[in-house]
Amino acid sequence: MVVAARSLDVLLLLHLCPRIMEKSAQDLELITRYFGEFTTEQLNQFQRLEELYTDWNQKINVISRKDMESLYEKHVLHSLSISAVFEFKPGTEILDLGTGGGFPGIPLAIFFPQVKFHLVDSIGKKIKVVQAVSEALELKNVTAQHTRAEEIKNRKFDFVLSRAVAPLAELWKWSKPLLKKSLASETAPDSQSKPGLICLKGGDLAAEISESGLRPRMVDIFEIFPEPYFQEKYLLYVNS
Ligand code: SAH
Repeated sequence: MVVAARSLDVLLLLHLCPRIMEKSAQDLELITRYFGEFTTEQLNQFQRLEELYTDWNQKINVISRKDMESLYEKHVLHSLSISAVFEFKPGTEILDLGTGGGFPGIPLAIFFPQVKFHLVDSIGKKIKVVQAVSEALELKNVTAQHTRAEEIKNRKFDFVLSRAVAPLAELWKWSKPLLKKSLASETAPDSQSKPGLICLKGGDLAAEISESGLRPRMVDIFEIFPEPYFQEKYLLYVNS
């Protein structure tokens, strides 16, 4: 009976493994479809995200169960929309405000190994996940801190990033004091860019933008990644 059960396990494994391999290849293809030129290390790091988040998510819930099935689309690729628009230069210092389990900071830190990312969240256990993932991936360019953004003192950044944290007005109120006055020319993505807030938001943003009194530059992510998930998803960039 035991033997029969074991051989059934093996059969099941043999049956499942190619599918697991296939899924992993498909997940990575979703990333490499849009961005070329990754090193083997970066590809390995992207690939390991699934196993790391699956594992950590069972201990500390940072990604909804439903979203875990499409981790690479809804979290990794969505985070990387920022790298499709901004080319951060080596040495740039970036704050991920309300990073949760590490989005958009972790995928971007893999993408830009020469850029420094500081990931903060007001919930300590989420920072624990960020630290564990970044240590497992040996990301030398990531630091993580359990704090509210409003409490960060004596530190300034070239850019503040944020996904799904707070209304634009509030994000700008928290970010503005944390931004440098100007970008060092060697860290400027282009000659016109200034330190600013880059946030990822979805849905109808008209009221939120109007209430903020700001005039963000807006990029429609669906035009960059035509997967249905990115319909009505926008990247907003505000600078002073
Ligand atoms: N950016 C992540 C998490 C979004 S959930 C993602 O897209 O997956 C919003 C997170 O912002 C929560 O984890 C919450 O704790 C954090 N947060 C909200 N206000 C904050 C503040 N003022 N400072 C730091 N973190 C904040």
